[in-house]
Amino acid sequence: MKTTLFHQHGGPEALEYTDFPTPEPKPGEVLVKLKVAALNRMDVMVRNGWPGLKLEMPHINGADGAGEVVALGSPLSMGEGLGVRADDRVVINPNLGCGECDYCLSGWDNMCRNWHLLGETVRGTYAEYVSVPARQLYKLPDNFDFHVAAGAALVYQTAWHSLITRGKLQTGETVLIVGAGGGVNTASIDIAKFSGAQVLVVGSDAKKLGKAEALGADVLIDRSKEENWSKAVFLATNRQGVDVVVDNVGTTFMHSLRALKKGGRLITVGNSGGPKFEIDNRYVFAKHLSIIGSTMSHMTDFSTVMDLVVAGKLKPTLDQSFPLSEAAAAQERLWMGKNFGKITLDIG
Ligand SMILES: [Zn+2]
Repeated sequence: MKTTLFHQHGGPEALEYTDFPTPEPKPGEVLVKLKVAALNRMDVMVRNGWPGLKLEMPHINGADGAGEVVALGSPLSMGEGLGVRADDRVVINPNLGCGECDYCLSGWDNMCRNWHLLGETVRGTYAEYVSVPARQLYKLPDNFDFHVAAGAALVYQTAWHSLITRGKLQTGETVLIVGAGGGVNTASIDIAKFSGAQVLVVGSDAKKLGKAEALGADVLIDRSKEENWSKAVFLATNRQGVDVVVDNVGTTFMHSLRALKKGGRLITVGNSGGPKFEIDNRYVFAKHLSIIGSTMSHMTDFSTVMDLVVAGKLKPTLDQSFPLSEAAAAQERLWMGKNFGKITLDIG
């Protein structure tokens, strides 16, 4: 099969468009012929590598993918019990739980004791074929756009699980989203608006803020003009502060803690500004704040959110699409923050 892979960690030049053996589906697995893959910042972090990351080389990036079922591993040759058959159009849930541990058995497979993410520690979707357990597949209706499906899978489940399941977002609440252009942030705007929340977005790029407004954001704060943006949030909310902040930057936590009203929740699913930073703990206890961490989602949330995407009630924002052979250029666009929404790769 054709794939874009890397033999050693490094910059974009480490990626190579080449031939690689097509994976054989193991028992319980399904071979999917991918039509579209979608990028996540995690792809670039894995390509760069970090201390302690051990991969079987060569490695293939990519958590998100959508395509068609071509083969079922024994004993699923008839697709029995799982409702998957050859030619089914599917999108992959990249959250890989073992299906056997206590967390998986209680429905929290994103907390699995042997947790993996497709494309992070196992070979992913920057390829013509990928083999995944049948339970990872969500069936798409005929003619549903593979770009939308692939672009939704990781970020919509992440945003839904953190805002709705963990963050308990309610209709009428106020949500501040730190950052305008990334995939999780655009999904968070979409989901917060769908939930009937008022949405504030703080960003540093006027063009991206304009696009966030087009997605439904109610209040836009340009932090290149208002360095002390927690004050701007305070003023925009009748001096109340917000109920919820989505902060996946990390180094901005102090602003976020200040922007919250008493009893507010700070939700985080990542730290694009780096993993370590200082906070003033007095804000946390004196204001009765909760800091809620979350990653990916469980199977139930994945189907809930994909049902809403398929029904057109949630609408993933798509950026540019590149051919699989130009994955390096696609990753550069993502890493430089030039995108608004999901970057995809055309494969089939
Ligand atoms: Zn498990």
